[in-house]
Amino acid sequence: MIHSRYDFIIAGSGFAGSLAALAMNQCGYRVCLIEKEKHPRFAVGESSTPIADMILRRLADKYNLPFLEKISRYGSWQESYPEILCGIKRGFSYFSHVRGSKFITDKNHSNTLLVAASSNDLDSDTNWYRADVDAFLVQKVLEAGIDYLEQTNIVNADESQGMMTLSIQSDDQAGYLSCNWFIDATGSPDLASDLFDIQSSSEHFQTNSSAIYSHFQNVIPWTQYLKQQQDISIQKYPFNADHSALHHLVDEGWMWNLRFKNNLVSAGFLIDLNNHRTDNLRENPETSWDKLLSGYSSIAKCYENAQLAPIPGRFVVTGRLQRQLEKIFNSRWIALNHTAGFVDPLHSTGIAHTLSGLERLLELFNTKDQQIQVIHNKLERHQSALSHEFYLIDLLVAGCYLSRHHFNLFHAYTMVYFACTISYEQSRLAGHLPDTYLNAADLKIRKLVEESWQDLLEIMEHGPDQKQISGFIRRTRERIEPYNIAGLLESDKENMYHHTAVSLK
Ligand SMILES: Cc1cc2nc3c(=O)[nH]c(=O)nc-3n(C[C@H](O)[C@H](O)[C@H](O)COP(=O)(O)OP(=O)(O)OC[C@H]3O[C@@H](n4cnc5c(N)ncnc54)[C@H](O)[C@@H]3O)c2cc1C
Repeated sequence: MIHSRYDFIIAGSGFAGSLAALAMNQCGYRVCLIEKEKHPRFAVGESSTPIADMILRRLADKYNLPFLEKISRYGSWQESYPEILCGIKRGFSYFSHVRGSKFITDKNHSNTLLVAASSNDLDSDTNWYRADVDAFLVQKVLEAGIDYLEQTNIVNADESQGMMTLSIQSDDQAGYLSCNWFIDATGSPDLASDLFDIQSSSEHFQTNSSAIYSHFQNVIPWTQYLKQQQDISIQKYPFNADHSALHHLVDEGWMWNLRFKNNLVSAGFLIDLNNHRTDNLRENPETSWDKLLSGYSSIAKCYENAQLAPIPGRFVVTGRLQRQLEKIFNSRWIALNHTAGFVDPLHSTGIAHTLSGLERLLELFNTKDQQIQVIHNKLERHQSALSHEFYLIDLLVAGCYLSRHHFNLFHAYTMVYFACTISYEQSRLAGHLPDTYLNAADLKIRKLVEESWQDLLEIMEHGPDQKQISGFIRRTRERIEPYNIAGLLESDKENMYHHTAVSLK
């Protein structure tokens, strides 16, 4: 029987839980990290972004965690930790497919969009092989002397006398651990529901999607496939599309492909539940996957000799992905972002959003010996910020689902997201820490996104025809103009953006 007292107990050793433990330990707090599984283990959520990497660099500096700086760029990652698997991610690429037809495009890349997020491979973002990255961070937790319990379940939580006491159980021990604060980094609403009866809801989200995904070997690179097609030119691509978060837009929704250095590929289909049924996904994931692929011969060609990778060696099928907890804290419990909620993987907001929430929470506990009411007031503001963020991400993503059958429209709506990222990056570069991810609570950003969403809803209601699409593109160009340092939506760009990335610190 163990019984110890901590400042913070953190449940969940995904990257967020481990980073929370490491940073709080550096602040002089006594920390314990509890994981119910065992590392290395499969995890999804692999594609980082310039914002995620900016935050990693700041956390590295502020909490003296230099290894975070190293993994914030592909070049320094390879130099320092070549054994931790990742892939180069130079930006975002989108390819629009028609069900039943081979992928085609024209010299203006009408069905293709490439958006660079870095200007060279060395400075680029990365696709994280989460089994390795998360195990690496847990290793750092152990090296820092932080108490770490693996394969341990938290079965009860009891608050009394100004502290939280958790009952824990594993195969070889049971006991009680007490803390001033219990941080929930489990990436799921389940623990909050079991321990505190806090509910999660989905209904208020516009986005409505579920996923089927896994890791694969022997997937033919998409650019290799394109090169073999006489009628498709990839000369003007700003980067190798396999070195990106590669999105295939399909009738059912979209598909992600993230390639790691050893040619392992993370891939998943997102199904738009507003228009498609997923009855068969759970009962028969293999057949469902093959059926999805079979509608798109060009993608299917890349997967004709592919096999499931040994880890996880199976398909993962989700229910509706959108969820948000009704509250993210109580008197002694706080949920990190991915516990608090999630929208959808489109445009890879997850890691950056998670890190931005963690960064804000760490600021909140930066000052020691604060009165509990002061902390609760700050948490109230944190919760409100998070709600703004989920709301904004939801509209940004839902509009992409809605517009995806008209690629010009999708392109224009996607640029609203990139305008938000530029706004946020610029705020950080100007030296202040934004209150919200993507400046979601900024009135001008809200107006930009809400107007774009309403505009889209209106033109989608009856059509839209070419004239309406052109009007939407023109209005979007005007709306994003204050943030548009990258020539977004300029016609001479031909859907190829070489320089959206500001020079990030
Ligand atoms: C289908 C899908 C695709 C995604 N793709 C992307 C992407 O491409 N890019 C991106 O940026 N984001 C993506 N995301 C989001 C991304 O997964 C999250 O932002 C990220 O995983 C959050 O990390 P985390 O450490 O907070 O939580 P998690 O990665 O969820 O880690 C939680 C940890 O807690 C442990 N745990 C769970 N329950 C308990 C418990 N009761 N007690 C103790 N430990 C527990 C788990 O075993 C795990 O180790 C995606 C999400 C989904 C669902």
